[in-house]
Amino acid sequence: MDAARASKEQIVAALREILPAGGLLTAPEDLDRHSRDWSGDHFGLPLAVARPATVGEAAALMRLCWDLSLPVVPQGGLTGLVGAAVAEPGGGELAISFERLNAVRSVDPVEFAMIVEAGCVLENAKKAAEEKDCLLPLTFGAQGSCRIGGNIATNAGGMNVLRYGMTRDLVLGLEVVLADGRIWNGLKVLRKDNRGYDLKQLFIGSEGTLGIVTAAALKLFPKPALVETALLGLRTVDDAMALYARARRGCSDLLTAFELLLRDGLEVAMHARRDLADPLQRPYPVYVLLEAAASREIPLRGVVETVLAGASDLIEDGVLAASRAQAERLWLFRETMVEAQGRGGRYLRTDVSVPISKLAIFIDDSLQALRQRYPEALALAYGHVGDGNVHLNVIPPVGASAETMARLFEGAEEVIFNVVDRLGGSISAEHGIGRLKQKAFLKRSDDATLDLAQRLKHAFDPKSLLSPGRILPAPARQEI
Ligand SMILES: Cc1cc2nc3c(=O)[nH]c(=O)nc-3n(C[C@H](O)[C@H](O)[C@H](O)COP(=O)(O)OP(=O)(O)OC[C@H]3O[C@@H](n4cnc5c(N)ncnc54)[C@H](O)[C@@H]3O)c2cc1C
Repeated sequence: MDAARASKEQIVAALREILPAGGLLTAPEDLDRHSRDWSGDHFGLPLAVARPATVGEAAALMRLCWDLSLPVVPQGGLTGLVGAAVAEPGGGELAISFERLNAVRSVDPVEFAMIVEAGCVLENAKKAAEEKDCLLPLTFGAQGSCRIGGNIATNAGGMNVLRYGMTRDLVLGLEVVLADGRIWNGLKVLRKDNRGYDLKQLFIGSEGTLGIVTAAALKLFPKPALVETALLGLRTVDDAMALYARARRGCSDLLTAFELLLRDGLEVAMHARRDLADPLQRPYPVYVLLEAAASREIPLRGVVETVLAGASDLIEDGVLAASRAQAERLWLFRETMVEAQGRGGRYLRTDVSVPISKLAIFIDDSLQALRQRYPEALALAYGHVGDGNVHLNVIPPVGASAETMARLFEGAEEVIFNVVDRLGGSISAEHGIGRLKQKAFLKRSDDATLDLAQRLKHAFDPKSLLSPGRILPAPARQEI
């Protein structure tokens, strides 16, 4: 049987044979739940939703899809922002959800490693690590919904990258179901292993296009006993970047976060939550949220205070949190701003990076160009600037028509990406390419890069069944 020629009923019947009760969803309300992502910008009804509960079931499922030539799209928590996890709108893709394959298999505080299944929600994995006095450092706004498999497939970043690295830096091993249903067992906790190619690296950040991740071995760190958080007001982004360099050194490399917000962003947060009052005596053009952490009783507060006092030429005013509750309140400005951007409907999201030394120029040039060309829109810049990563988002004016928005998003993205190109940056620092950024990605990729990428895709997925059309264009069926 070939999926292109079989009826939907025949395909569903074949899937039911290998997935026991609860393993396959076909009811309209279930399909609807799996048809849109967090942003609501992307929609695509899957043919059905397969929910394997074991690695064996996931492998049997892929074997069947291989035999049927049935395209699939893996889904984690659907918080990805580039339309990669949503089925293609034609209704021909089977969604594979990992919500039932979600166990924490082990946490080893001596090995400083944990083994987690793909469907484990990031926050639950973090809690399991904490119970053993360890830290899984991956931290960002969607951690209550996103899943480990999605984090690996997107190579997620977040707040603590400057100290602990991206997801790629945290993965010790992977277990992956291949396109033809074979299981690739690379689930090891070795920190040093130079036996040939490091195949796991290829699956990390591949957005579900090369294999289905079923479990991961992740690096852990000692859980911080001390955390110091400060919110600082500054005059310019240049001053913020100068402070970053000083703080990184001055804090004995204990800096865990260095987030930048501009005044516009802080006002968006305060407007969205009336209980958030201006955190400093008066408004400043630029704010920095700085965090340092240590796992042992060292005079961390004194270290941070010394750094801040020594940077009085850069810092206009600031507050160093006196308690965990106050620190959480400072972070609320950042979290509320991110969440509030979408309250009025769709907006343009970007997640670019430039060399850290060019970050201030990037923000200045992009904002200036956007304000000149689209004075009616609100452009917000914020980000994990210790990693050179800026989210430059553009919110359309209230009441803008769908056509106006489409023109604004296309034009504004081009403005931003042109500045990124000029400064030698990347159009995606975190969210990936998916379908949303494919055109911009292809335009900027040289022939050799595309040739290698296409060969890689063909080697891992010769029938183009794994998330076809994400990152690279899907080949026409007769080309496969
Ligand atoms: C409020 C908010 C804040 C965010 N902040 C950040 C941030 O700071 N840094 C950052 O990097 N991202 C951030 N994101 C983006 C997003 O949360 C991450 O990309 C996250 O890693 C996606 O995980 P998910 O489980 O939701 O994956 P999904 O959205 O479900 O899927 C993402 C991709 O992974 C693939 N996939 C999912 N599971 C598997 C699997 N088991 N095997 C193979 N492929 C799979 C999907 O097919 C898709 O290509 C944010 C998103 C939101 C909504």
